[in-house]
Amino acid sequence: MTHWLNHTNTMNETKRSQVINRNQVAVLGGGESGVGAAILAKQKGWEVFVSDFGQITADYKAELETNQIEYEEGQHSKARILNVGQVIKSPGVPDKAPIVKALKEAGIPVVSEIEFAAQYADAKIIGITGSNGKTTTTNLIYQMLKMARYKVGMAGNVGYSFARMVAEAQHEYYVLELSSFQLDGIRFFAPDIAILLNITPDHLDRYDYNFDNYTASKLRITMNQTDNNHLIYNAEDESILKGMAINGTAANTHAVRPSGLKADQWQVNNTAFNANELTIKGKHNLFNATCAIKAALLLGVEVNDIKKALRTFRNDPHRLEKVATVNEITYINDSKATNVDAVWYALDAMTQPIIWIVGGTDKGNDYSVLDDLVQQKVKAIICMGVDNSKIHEAFSTQIKIIEDTGSASEAVNVATKYAEEGDVVLLSPACASFDLFKNYKDRGEQFKAVVQGLF
Ligand code: ADP
Repeated sequence: MTHWLNHTNTMNETKRSQVINRNQVAVLGGGESGVGAAILAKQKGWEVFVSDFGQITADYKAELETNQIEYEEGQHSKARILNVGQVIKSPGVPDKAPIVKALKEAGIPVVSEIEFAAQYADAKIIGITGSNGKTTTTNLIYQMLKMARYKVGMAGNVGYSFARMVAEAQHEYYVLELSSFQLDGIRFFAPDIAILLNITPDHLDRYDYNFDNYTASKLRITMNQTDNNHLIYNAEDESILKGMAINGTAANTHAVRPSGLKADQWQVNNTAFNANELTIKGKHNLFNATCAIKAALLLGVEVNDIKKALRTFRNDPHRLEKVATVNEITYINDSKATNVDAVWYALDAMTQPIIWIVGGTDKGNDYSVLDDLVQQKVKAIICMGVDNSKIHEAFSTQIKIIEDTGSASEAVNVATKYAEEGDVVLLSPACASFDLFKNYKDRGEQFKAVVQGLF
């Protein structure tokens, strides 16, 4: 693993020597990634100060206090922060924040928690990025390595932060889910195996509504890789191909072509796998599993262990999660489908007629890519959002039944009214959840609770 403190011959040498001499680090953001970074920094002998512009939760405050780490909330004390040797920025803090701009102007290095933690991790790193499928693929690889009894940790965008894991336990392998925000803050970080799943429009508000900026951010996963490293990528994703043509990669490349993956004759590296034994359904999951298998094979995991992991795999909730079948109607919670591409795969994966619950905070969605699937499979659309006008506009000429609802219970009840035996009620919203819910988890939990109340 490359240590950025050890790099020489770069323009940043002067700044880094300041860093070495000035043993103070400020951490922006007091959530999981910030607190994890603070604990690791403290453990490694840095003087640490955590600053959060919002409020820090009681749990994290208690942890900071136990570790004797100073913090502030509700503000960023500029004078103090501009005086440290380096800053670790949580992915939730945007580059446009005035404090980040001020730090950049002052020439103070601002790195992500991933960059910071990697220098202390003497381990092989598998990094996964993409617009959709990160959590699923990260979980799959983790399960395969665990099945083979590797000493492996899983961290990143969801769950525990990488920095916390490095501070608390030294694993030989880390499987990391990497968001574009985390990749924006890397400088020398280079995963041993990188996986680039897909790039579709998402989070464009953080990239000046410029898709090329978002693509460039995802491509950073390979920018520091060398010919000792591997890049597994979606070779049918135009944005990835374009990004690779512009930026190049020094890694050994492994192309995966989703259209070549067939459930009835599923082969990876000339080994036959049985898609019937894969517990997660849909073309997208065949693709995710193929990427995961390729990574596991590169790490020397035996095919038998990979197959066992696939047979016993349980994904995180809210991803095409079957909740229950009540009166022959099946209810599926896909609350994590917060963009149109994820919904495409959900609709495609369904084999029964669909009552589709959709809506929330629109992210500039273009629904037209769903037209064919909606016409083939959807019987009724139940909008669940404050403003449903775009959904009506997109589908009113195609679908006769489109109803507005304003809560999970209303949505489930109206959907159930239209559903017949053998149908599926699918919550796959294509939108963020913040108009009616705390987050996608809250939306999924409320949906599940209402469904469970139908018994
Ligand atoms: P992420 O962590 O990138 O958000 P998840 O694995 O949590 O990805 O899945 C998020 C949503 O995207 C779910 O609705 C899931 O069914 C869908 N999804 C998973 N993998 C893919 C893929 N490869 N392409 C498109 N959609 C996917």
